[in-house]
Amino acid sequence: MLTAIKVRLYPSHEQQVALSKSFGCARWYWNYALNACIQHYENTGKTLPLKSYKGLLPQLKVEYPWLKSDCYSAVLQCVAINLNKAYANFFEGRARFPRFKSKNHKQSIQYPQNVTIVGDCLNIPKVGEVKAVFHRSIEGKIKTVTISKTPTDKYYASILVEGNSKNNQISGDKIIGVDLGIKDFAIVHDGEQVTKYSNPKHLKRHERNLARKQKKLARKVKGSKSRNKFRKLVAKVHERVSNSRQDFLHKLSRKLVNESQVIVVENLNVKGMVRNRKLAKSISDVGWGMFVNFIDYKLKAKDGQLVEIGRFFPSSKTCSCCNHIVDEMPLEVREWDCPACKTHHDRDENASKNIRTEGIQILSMGGGNPVLVAQRRSKTNKPQGGRASVDEAGSPHFC
Ligand SMILES: [Zn+2]
Repeated sequence: MLTAIKVRLYPSHEQQVALSKSFGCARWYWNYALNACIQHYENTGKTLPLKSYKGLLPQLKVEYPWLKSDCYSAVLQCVAINLNKAYANFFEGRARFPRFKSKNHKQSIQYPQNVTIVGDCLNIPKVGEVKAVFHRSIEGKIKTVTISKTPTDKYYASILVEGNSKNNQISGDKIIGVDLGIKDFAIVHDGEQVTKYSNPKHLKRHERNLARKQKKLARKVKGSKSRNKFRKLVAKVHERVSNSRQDFLHKLSRKLVNESQVIVVENLNVKGMVRNRKLAKSISDVGWGMFVNFIDYKLKAKDGQLVEIGRFFPSSKTCSCCNHIVDEMPLEVREWDCPACKTHHDRDENASKNIRTEGIQILSMGGGNPVLVAQRRSKTNKPQGGRASVDEAGSPHFC
């Protein structure tokens, strides 16, 4: 199993210079190769294959000797591979078009090999032994190491390790359904009771501070020293927001994973929701996507299972007692009475219970296509768009 461990680095002044040269070379080559790809496409209408811009390297190193002297060669090879990946992600609709890199943003380089741990230092080729703070011992084979520098001038190494991670975690065996929301971040149903975790609204707490600093930054002359200073101050606020958000998401996902064996969540179309301008800011702030990722990899480490329910499953509109589906359930309705069985529902409690029940049903069908299951159910209501298809036998797909 692969695990990534992030450690803070404290390079000396000389090492910072060496790292910044490597960042510079990697950035330069990325921009050069990206430009070559764009030019090639404009001229021929075809994409430049990986081996073409990788093949440019020996000639470039002759033309620009600093590419050879200032940067470890495998780092540049990685740049080529990453550019190729970025293009693939773009063509397969997972990401936007690769962008040129700027020295003002986060810097990072990858070492596919030859980074070793020496005492409490990380030995990096062409940089030397850099002081590092390890929060846990690193056991197993070191694969890729990514060195990065944040806009606030902090250095980190993300170390990918292959090996047997110790499985000494507390292991609950519950099946829980999680409904994600804005007012309450997560509403968790474990079959017996409901727990609500309120949304800490990380960005909101820093919003005024951020706005004030951004305003000042906008007034500074481009390229001036004080602009640079304010750029860093703004980056610092962003860093604080993102750190506190990640901290919250890590702690909550750890708690839920420790309690359970199966976690059921709705497959949220976060992108589509962010387009709703009224909600965009709060949705981007809560970090649902990141939360589901955290749950997923933590569950995998203990052989648990994440079940995602199709996003067309009417979790809010279905009565969890009698399965009656109401036609409409506007966002502002927090409590309602089922017209069929007269049960009084709290909107979110009812939804989390439905999510859990649906997840159990999917599991009992052997992990059938959740989107399909959801769509079948919603047929009793009204047909909704979806990508699910029924195969000839009419049975669910197994994935
Ligand atoms: Zn009912």
